[in-house]
Amino acid sequence: MIDALIPKGVCWHCDEAQADQNFWICKGCWVSVRRVEPQVSLPKTTVLYRYEGALETLLVRAKQPLEPAIYSMLLDTNFSMPRDAVYIPVPTPWHRRLRRRGCQTTCIAELLVRRFGGRVVHALKRRRHHRRQAALDGERRRELTADAFMLCRSVDENDRLILVDDVMTTGTTLQCAESALGAEQVHRFVVGRVF
Ligand SMILES: [Zn+2]
Repeated sequence: MIDALIPKGVCWHCDEAQADQNFWICKGCWVSVRRVEPQVSLPKTTVLYRYEGALETLLVRAKQPLEPAIYSMLLDTNFSMPRDAVYIPVPTPWHRRLRRRGCQTTCIAELLVRRFGGRVVHALKRRRHHRRQAALDGERRRELTADAFMLCRSVDENDRLILVDDVMTTGTTLQCAESALGAEQVHRFVVGRVF
């Protein structure tokens, strides 16, 4: 209802055509949004899209400020998750969360719960001493990311645990989050993956 009152603007990706595929992207650019083929999927990881083209534009802009409607649109596609799982958002840095007025990983986790049941548990937090990664050289960066997260709420290993992130690049962030959780069986969900 509210969406219908907002006039559609120019496509976020090409900045030229009218956004006519949805509220953000034109039909021409939408062709670049591609689901991940089953043959390139990773074990114990659910990946919806290739992080390229208009999908990259959407995911970069959807988090600053947070646009839940974009995640909702992207998740409105064919995939399945286990019923009644525990979804654990990969924590975003608190200062960025303030600036964006919301946390994209929490938003995605909430959408998954709405569709597949279960609940969101904020089991992880970022360590406070963590500095902006870009300011650090490679080795120091690796050293820091290894302990970037800490467990702040214990998890039950009998639950289906699913770590939630928006984008997977090398997988290091998810690995660090997983080791901070310390659970044997953890599944991962990401909206986009860099190939
Ligand atoms: Zn376009």
